Amino acid sequence: MEMSSHAEKVEFSFPEDAGPKPAVWTPEQEEFVKQFPHICKDCKWMKPVIPNTKFPPADLIGYCKIIHWPFYWCVSKYTIVKSCKWFEKR
Ligand code: SF4
Repeated sequence: MEMSSHAEKVEFSFPEDAGPKPAVWTPEQEEFVKQFPHICKDCKWMKPVIPNTKFPPADLIGYCKIIHWPFYWCVSKYTIVKSCKWFEKR
């Protein structure tokens, strides 16, 4: 029996139009992010949490949609992103 690593058995496939897409912000999200010093608040890859929702951890501003695409990276209130090489102006 031939041994193979787990990694060799994993295949990914994506639709042709796959790729990171900027989030659409509500007016409440626009207002919410203004209070933070993070550069992310001006970045098109930021997906802010919906203010006053219960599900996200309380220390989250939102999620970065590009750094770990196809996964989201949590942007915390307490780890202030001052500069970022993936930043793109909204
Ligand atoms: S790309 Fe950088 S600046 Fe933009 S949301 Fe992600 S971490 Fe923030």
